[in-house]
Amino acid sequence: MDRQSNESTPSQPETAPPQPLAPPGSALIVRGAEPPPEQRAAEQVHRHQSAAGMYSIYETFKRGVLEMGVGNSIRTLLKVNQTNGFDCPSCAWPDPDGERKTAEFCENGAKAVASEATKGRIPAEFFAQHSVSELLERSDRWYEQQGRLVQPMWRPAGSDHYRPIEWDAAFDLIACELKALDSPNQAAFYTSGRASNEAAFLYGLFARQFGTNNLPDCSNLCHESSGAGLTEAIGIGKATVKIEDFSYADAVFVIGQNPGTCHPRMLSELQKAARNGCQIVSVNPLSETGLLRFKNPQEPLSLLGSGTPIASLFLPVRINGDVALLKGIMKEMLDEDQRSGGKVLAHDFIRQQTEGFEALRADLEAESWTAIVESSGCSRELIRRAAEIAIRSEHMICCWAMGVTQHKNGVANVQTIANFALLRAQIGRRGAGLCPVRGHSNVQGDRTVGIWEKMSDEFLHALGREFDFSPPKAHGLDVVGTIQAMADGQLKVFVGLGGNFLAATPDTQLTARAMQRCRLTVQISTKLNRGHLITGEQALILPCLGRTEHDVQASGVQFVSVENTSGVVHQSRGVLPPASKHLRSEPAIVAGIAQRTLAGRTATDYLGLVADYDRIREHIEHVVPGFEQYNQRVRDAGGFYLPNGPREGKFSTPSGKAHFSVHPIPKHDLEPGELLLMTIRSHDQFNTTIYGENDRYRGISNGRRVVFINAEDIAERGLQGGDTVDLISRFGREMRTAERFKLIPYDIPRGCAAAYYPETNVLVPLHSVAERSNQPAFKSIPIRIESSPATLTTRQPVSP
Ligand code: SF4
Repeated sequence: MDRQSNESTPSQPETAPPQPLAPPGSALIVRGAEPPPEQRAAEQVHRHQSAAGMYSIYETFKRGVLEMGVGNSIRTLLKVNQTNGFDCPSCAWPDPDGERKTAEFCENGAKAVASEATKGRIPAEFFAQHSVSELLERSDRWYEQQGRLVQPMWRPAGSDHYRPIEWDAAFDLIACELKALDSPNQAAFYTSGRASNEAAFLYGLFARQFGTNNLPDCSNLCHESSGAGLTEAIGIGKATVKIEDFSYADAVFVIGQNPGTCHPRMLSELQKAARNGCQIVSVNPLSETGLLRFKNPQEPLSLLGSGTPIASLFLPVRINGDVALLKGIMKEMLDEDQRSGGKVLAHDFIRQQTEGFEALRADLEAESWTAIVESSGCSRELIRRAAEIAIRSEHMICCWAMGVTQHKNGVANVQTIANFALLRAQIGRRGAGLCPVRGHSNVQGDRTVGIWEKMSDEFLHALGREFDFSPPKAHGLDVVGTIQAMADGQLKVFVGLGGNFLAATPDTQLTARAMQRCRLTVQISTKLNRGHLITGEQALILPCLGRTEHDVQASGVQFVSVENTSGVVHQSRGVLPPASKHLRSEPAIVAGIAQRTLAGRTATDYLGLVADYDRIREHIEHVVPGFEQYNQRVRDAGGFYLPNGPREGKFSTPSGKAHFSVHPIPKHDLEPGELLLMTIRSHDQFNTTIYGENDRYRGISNGRRVVFINAEDIAERGLQGGDTVDLISRFGREMRTAERFKLIPYDIPRGCAAAYYPETNVLVPLHSVAERSNQPAFKSIPIRIESSPATLTTRQPVSP
């Protein structure tokens, strides 16, 4: 198709059969009366003191029944995370290696499933009724409530409405725009962590056969610092622990992570560990409910009492005070080692299997306690107690998430955790290891099978050999690079395989303007989001199957495979009929685009590969080490573990040794009156998906524009809890404002603040990134707060 003719083609966009409106009682909800979210006041209510419990069961069933109905709730929920079912589309917490319980999911997993398996539908008429401009006035939560996208939609240049388009015409449009580019590097292919191994592998192959390594992904936003830091330190950028290790651990440090909301089934492992006498240390600026007490929904008796205490020690570290704190703990360990005649550190291991220890020792000896205590915000006594736990521990696990990685010094944070573990050889042994906990179900697998802007030469060589082509060698663009290139007008076509790029990324205004500079933006999605409304000159929404749904291709019913945080690759098989007969699977959509774009340029039979996913897996086996007998082993109940050298005590660094590294305590250069803000997730939210506006673990109801600040910091500014304030970030001479937040006095260290994303992403400039990983620093935002002239209104609760 000729690009100039786009606006008169595709030939039959208007003739696509209209989809039926959602049945009565479904989630096709249109709200008109509520004030826009930025004008509403959240309410501060009772904060739940234990995680999960009866309320969680109630929420699970309420969401399930409201969204899916009783029948589908039972059909789906009992198949979540089962060996013959589908993988939870939410976080990447591992499933048990052995037997599974009947209900192997958490409240948040149930919300994610209900969101996908909802009976709500967005038919073509929806877009005829609502212009893009009108939809932009709605909240993220409202988008989420509208139901599933059920047919491909096209927004022609200059139009304020999407209209239906046939699949073939959509593929032609994409191919036409891609082929019209001056260079393949004018396109970027983003991947969210929902994409299966099969979809991701095909997508990476397509991008490289097209000629670019521009493969940004959501890992650029969440654990890029973990990958960079761990690869240097131990030779692999992934967790070294298995789920069973938690049963053997006698100490678990949970650093910058909120498992109660972000990885809820982890609480079951922590509960088991706590009952075994394991000491659980929570290192976080907020004392999160999930680490206080847990009422396991699987245990009826546990529901009655006040729950199992989880953390035995809470270290209320200042935001980004982790390097200082860990240095303090290690300094205590060093001192104790000297006092005890060398009985604390693993000297043989350090001598034989590591390098860089002497430099670390010198650095720790030189570090002042004043700097450690001041920067960490934790007293010497608390630090000593944490050190005692580490000194006594024979089997210690360190877990972390984005509280560690999303800082300018995110890589240094990760490597300091690695230092801490290496001192006592807490890697490569049962019950011990490092565990960066992944936030989206297959974010790790996507990277394993080739989604990265800088895959190794070995991978590219193997891919080229397998498919008989020469993959581009030059590194591509990551997320930050993609946004900058779009903003500079150098990137013309953006394709998003899942996700909500606009809401997940920093510098929202800049990102929005950047996307609008593209000629074409394409989103492969299950649900409506804001990214469908801030688009390039032309835009496509390509609706895809969800994890919960049957995937039938030419050779019959298919399953896909995914990799969890522990490096287990296993299958996922949907159980529901698709939300619409017009939906296609992600691999089929990728193949459709590839076949049209590369016609005559490649011998790869994309449609043939998609006819039977075993064929895709055969290619993965030939290209990616560790996937031997993929098709056979992925059919084993529970799947198989990928190789992990450090887990076996072998460090796959160039020297074959683990590396200690030295990092200074970070400084923030706050001006007088400024606070350091971190963005956080509410309990009614999964990544950028907003299920509701409550956060019962922090005592927030009916709103999200809140900022949590220490009561003394509020008083010092002459303000009161409940006041409305604007948040103004400062980076050099650049100021950014997020308006109208309600002040919530909260148990958070002085000088710190927390507020929900994506609302506060606007405060983070694109250039505020972690050194060496280029990961946006969403958790180191210098802000001042100013009384806002706006008035917030309280509204009646709105049922989901
Ligand atoms: S812990 Fe994560 S993977 Fe498991 S059910 Fe909950 S959200 Fe899903």
